[in-house]
Amino acid sequence: MKNRLGIIGGGQLGMMITEAAQNLSGEISEITVLDPTENCSAAQVGAKQIVGDFKDELAILKLAEQSDIITYEIESGNTDVLSKLKAKIEPSPSTLGIIQDKLSQKTFLSENELPVSEFYEITSLDDLREKINELGLPVLLKSRRDAYDGRGNFKITSSDEIEKAYQYFDGKSLMVEKFVNFKMEVSVIAARNTKGEIATYPLVENIHENNILKITIAPARVSENVIKNAGEIAKKTMQVLNGAGVFGIEMFVDQDDKILINEIAPRVHNSGHHTLQSCKTSQFEQHLRAILGLKLGSTELVHKTVMCNILGPDGFEGKYKPVELEKDGVYLKMYGKDISKPQRKIGHFNIVDLSDTKDVSELLQMADEIKNIVTISPL
Ligand code: AMP
Repeated sequence: MKNRLGIIGGGQLGMMITEAAQNLSGEISEITVLDPTENCSAAQVGAKQIVGDFKDELAILKLAEQSDIITYEIESGNTDVLSKLKAKIEPSPSTLGIIQDKLSQKTFLSENELPVSEFYEITSLDDLREKINELGLPVLLKSRRDAYDGRGNFKITSSDEIEKAYQYFDGKSLMVEKFVNFKMEVSVIAARNTKGEIATYPLVENIHENNILKITIAPARVSENVIKNAGEIAKKTMQVLNGAGVFGIEMFVDQDDKILINEIAPRVHNSGHHTLQSCKTSQFEQHLRAILGLKLGSTELVHKTVMCNILGPDGFEGKYKPVELEKDGVYLKMYGKDISKPQRKIGHFNIVDLSDTKDVSELLQMADEIKNIVTISPL
């Protein structure tokens, strides 16, 4: 029997899940997304849309009426409402619940003996001072919930910043974490299907600026040992997490090549966009295979690839000129967003080493050149 798929969130991730679902037409009959922006990215490629907030109970119920299976592209879904629904939800609301709260996520990981930076819950300003005495500076004060792209983090480097940092969060529930002086940020895209089969993609290297992902390099430029450790940590994470779907597992490689998990995203992940062209199975198809209980696809990396995000420039909000590019081995994906805003993800491109003759530094140099061609400018 074919499934009707519901997706909470219809931005670029929902868009690329929709496209993968259309290619799995033998399994999925129709796709509906819930998203507050009219004619969202996913709707533009043929998903039906319910216009509403991700947490709106009535809108979620409506989505459930139109779906046999629900998944999500954002982690801020309303777990209370989701857990009451009759439709199948993957990953399960209980897995989502653990991940949504950064403190419960880190507690869960450390209880399962997975490596994380030292952390504490923070309940007051005095408590924060006390915990900083134990951890030493610098630390990162983090909002436990609803924080994206580092927007919920405050780095405290000296004791006179403690009060300012605490006040910045204005009563939100908080945690504090020892700052990791990392050598590199890496991630593993991992999948677990409803039958418990697990597959992990090769380790990739991520370069952030202002807490936002700019570039992913597949594969990561690290030793065999780091690759092996990160892969094992990712597999163990998937075994204990118990949810079905694709997960993005973000990690740090510290100065001694030790791996620490920073964060898990219970969804397809920006650092997996390279898989659209570089791997035998894209992360979007893999996610659908996982939640539908199909056999997982091969995660083999066929070509070295550099993925570059196209972000809205600072100081400009509004409609922008169409962005086009035709170049062998370069795959541009625009997300069809009407309006550019500072640092908003508007599209990405993958530079794929189709001939297997280039090294990463050449791909990065090409990325630099192409970035200047695919800039966002006012219409
Ligand atoms: P998050 O939103 O918590 O994933 O953090 C966003 C970015 O902040 C990460 O990609 C890191 O660059 C940085 N970050 C988060 N936690 C730490 C940490 N404990 N030490 C150093 N950098 C961190």
